[in-house]
Amino acid sequence: MSKFQHKKSLGQNFLYQREKVAQVVEAMNPTLEEAFIEIGPGTGYLTEQLLPKVKTLTCIEIDRQAIEILKTKFADKTNIEIIYADFLKYDLKKFCLEAGIGQQKLKVAGNIPYYITTPIIEKLIEHKHLISKAYLMVQKEVAERIISSEGSKVYGSLSVFCQYHADCKILLNIDRGNFYPVPEVDSAFIELNFEKKEKVETKNEDLFFKIVRAGFSQRRKMFINNLKRVFDTTENAVRPAFEKCDIELKARIEDVSIKKLAQLSNIMLDLKIQ
Ligand code: SAH
Repeated sequence: MSKFQHKKSLGQNFLYQREKVAQVVEAMNPTLEEAFIEIGPGTGYLTEQLLPKVKTLTCIEIDRQAIEILKTKFADKTNIEIIYADFLKYDLKKFCLEAGIGQQKLKVAGNIPYYITTPIIEKLIEHKHLISKAYLMVQKEVAERIISSEGSKVYGSLSVFCQYHADCKILLNIDRGNFYPVPEVDSAFIELNFEKKEKVETKNEDLFFKIVRAGFSQRRKMFINNLKRVFDTTENAVRPAFEKCDIELKARIEDVSIKKLAQLSNIMLDLKIQ
């Protein structure tokens, strides 16, 4: 580790504790038939333990110095591809096309830089038809927001967004002491399963997310008032939709489940409030 210059600007906190890395790999339950992409492999701590357990591993790393180390470290391995690129700009569609990934979807893993957690998740969701599961190391508080349900203080747009597209769970909690340099936050290793069991049924996704954003823009206010403002409408117009979905008129959005929000969006669409 001495030779490598850690770059704070690239969110470089390496999970270097062997046993923790082993737990992380085990939690993903990889098989030798699967193609994986690793986002931000750094100098390859996760890579070296994941590689022997998968069919192919494509590593996408933005740091040239890390790329050099990876290339030397894995020079004799045939099932690894090391790509110098910004994951956020990387053409995943083209990659899947060229790698012949179709029926059997891709898995994605990464101890990612935390300051781009949301853009990374957005990109994965945008390509969810190509991915079966994504496993990400994220800040613990972010993981809690991602998996939380109505009634929780941290239930918000991110929870609804992630759970709308994927089944989300925390696989492991990982203390900051397992990383080098030691970050200022604890972490959690999460799974986003895009092969979602129960789909949320919305007739109009844009309307659904407009309603979600409207509600959470002022989460402590009555949900109905946020809707009145954003949709420029009256309580009388929205009330029947609330009644049909069995949402209390006084409710705040933080007490409304994703399923009910979806129902509400479908009824609002029928009522032409959009
Ligand atoms: N997986 C390694 C490193 C984690 S640190 C380990 O656990 O040891 C995060 C890594 O993401 C760093 O190597 C950093 O250079 C890389 N990175 C940062 N931004 C990136 C981007 N946009 N695309 C790809 N990799 C990125």
